[in-house]
Amino acid sequence: MNQINIIKYENKSFLPVIGLEVHVQLNTKTKMFCSCAVEYGQQSNKNICPVCTGQPGVLPVLNKKAVELAIRSAIALNCKIHQESIFARKNYYYPDLPKNYQISQYEQPVATDGYVEIELENKNKKKVFIHRMHLEEDAGKLLHSIGKEELDYSLVDYNRTGTPLMEIVTEPCLFSVDEVTEYLSTLRNILRYIGVSDCDMEKGTFRCDANVSVSTNNEIFNLVEQEKIIPIKLLGTKTELKNMNSFKAIKEALLYEIERHMKNIILGEKIVQETRLWNETAERTESMRSKEEAHDYRYFPEPDLLPLIIEKEWIEEIKENIAELPNKKKERFVLVYSLSDYDANVLVSEQDLANFFEKTVLELKKDINEKIDLKTIAKNVCNIITTEFLGRLNAENKTISEFIVSNKKISHTHIAQLTKLLLEGTISSKLLKQIFDQMWQSGDMPLSIVEKNGLVQISDSKELEVLVDEVINENPKIVQDYKSGKQQAIGSLIGSAMKKTKGKANPKLLTEIFKKKLS
Ligand code: ADP
Ligand code: MG
Ligand code: ZN
Repeated sequence: MNQINIIKYENKSFLPVIGLEVHVQLNTKTKMFCSCAVEYGQQSNKNICPVCTGQPGVLPVLNKKAVELAIRSAIALNCKIHQESIFARKNYYYPDLPKNYQISQYEQPVATDGYVEIELENKNKKKVFIHRMHLEEDAGKLLHSIGKEELDYSLVDYNRTGTPLMEIVTEPCLFSVDEVTEYLSTLRNILRYIGVSDCDMEKGTFRCDANVSVSTNNEIFNLVEQEKIIPIKLLGTKTELKNMNSFKAIKEALLYEIERHMKNIILGEKIVQETRLWNETAERTESMRSKEEAHDYRYFPEPDLLPLIIEKEWIEEIKENIAELPNKKKERFVLVYSLSDYDANVLVSEQDLANFFEKTVLELKKDINEKIDLKTIAKNVCNIITTEFLGRLNAENKTISEFIVSNKKISHTHIAQLTKLLLEGTISSKLLKQIFDQMWQSGDMPLSIVEKNGLVQISDSKELEVLVDEVINENPKIVQDYKSGKQQAIGSLIGSAMKKTKGKANPKLLTEIFKKKLS
C-alpha cells in the first residue's frame, strides 16, 4: 500500500498528480548526426557544418556513441529496449532550428516501460515508472541581450544545434513535490554514475518539464494507494510547466501550480490545458500557449535515416561493462563495510565521493595493525570524510568532483594516513581537527605534521600518572565534589589534564587513571 499525501484545501481533498519529461544531454564528443564538436562555452557558431545548419543536399549520419549511451541509460532505468526504433521529423518553424524540423523519435522510441526506485522520507521505497525514452537532437540558442544590454534584434548561436539528447518521460505517478525532487536527484545520480551525462542544470545538460493536474476523485485515491498506474483519461486537466532551471525553481513552480489548480476547482473555474512558463522573479507561472495554439508537429518518419536496429549482443556487451549503480553500491557498502544506511547513503550520493572513500579504506587496510577490523576502519574513514572533508568542501562551496580536479595537494593517501594515526593511537581524537586543518592548508602528510609539531599522543601511563596526581593536588574542591557523588566533576579534571598537555593525553587512559586514583 502506498501512503499518499492528500492535501486538504478549503475542506476539500486533493491529490496532485505529476508526470515529468526530462531532457538529458548525452556525453558525446560530437553531435548526433554530424562530426561537429560538442563543447560548452565555445565562441558562437564555431561548431557548425552543412549538416547541423540544414544546408540542402546533405545527409545525417547517426552517432553510434549516442546510441550506446541511450542503451546504457535504458539498462540502468530498467527499460525494455526495442530492437527496432524509428527516427521521425518533428516539424516546426523557429529561428533556432535551421532545418525547420527536429529529428526525434515518435511512434517507436528506443526504449519503454522502465522504472527508477526512489527512497522516500519515511524510508519506504517507491518505483517511479518510465513511460518511454527516446533520442533526439537539440536546437540552437537565441540571444536577446548582450550582458545587461537588451537588443532590439536577436542573435542565434548554432553550436548547440544537433547536440544529442535523450528524453525520459515518466508515467503520471508522482504525487508530491518531494517525490518529484527525489526522483530527479536519483535519476541524475544514476546517469552521472554510468557516465551518460554530467547532468548539470545550470549548463542545461539536464532539463525538466513538469505536467501537473490535481485530482478530487476517490476512485483515483484508491488506485494510487494500490500502486496502480492511473489511466490518463481519469485524471484532471493538466498544465505543462517549462522554464525551470534549478531544483528550487521546480519545487516553487510545482507548489504554485498545484495551488492554482486547487483554487480554480474550488471557485468552479475551468482549468485550461496549456503550457505555462515559470517566472522566477514574479514567482508565478504564466500562460505561454493554450491547446488551441499548440503546435501540430506533423510527425513523419525521417526519410534520410534507416530504422535504428539494436542487436541483442550489443546490449549484453554494454550491460557487462556498466558501472555499479548507486543503490547497488550502497547495498555493498552496508554489507562489506558494515556502514549504517545513513552513512552509506551520504557516501554514494556522489560517485567520486564513494570512490574516494573506498580507495582510502582499501589503502589503509593494507597498512594498519591487523587487530583493527574493517568495520572500524570504514567507520572512521567515513567519519573523517563526511565531517572534516565534506565540511571544508561545503565551506569553500565546492563539490568533490571539482575538488579532485582542482586540488592536487590532498589525496586519499592523506586521509588514510590520518585515520591510521588515530586508530593506532598515535594522535588523540582531540587533535584530529587541528592536524586536518594544517594538512588542508599545506598539503603536508599528517605524520610529518605530527612529528614536526610534537603532537604525538601521550599514552605512557607513568607520565600520565604524574600528570593526574598534579591535577588532583591542584583541584581539591572538584575532587571533593567527585568523591561526594558528583560523577560529572571528573570531566572537569580530565579537561584540565588535557589543557596541560595541549590535547595530547590519551583520553581513554587518562580517564582510567583518574577513576583508579579517585576511588
Ligand atoms: P503531451 O502529448 O501533451 O506531451 P503526454 O501524454 O505525452 O502529453 O504526456 C506527457 C507527460 O505528461 C507524461 O509524463 C505524462 O505522464 C504526463 N501527463 C499526462 N497527462 C497528465 C495529467 N492529466 N496529469 C499529470 N500528468 C500528466
Ligand atoms: Mg509528449
Ligand atoms: Zn555539424
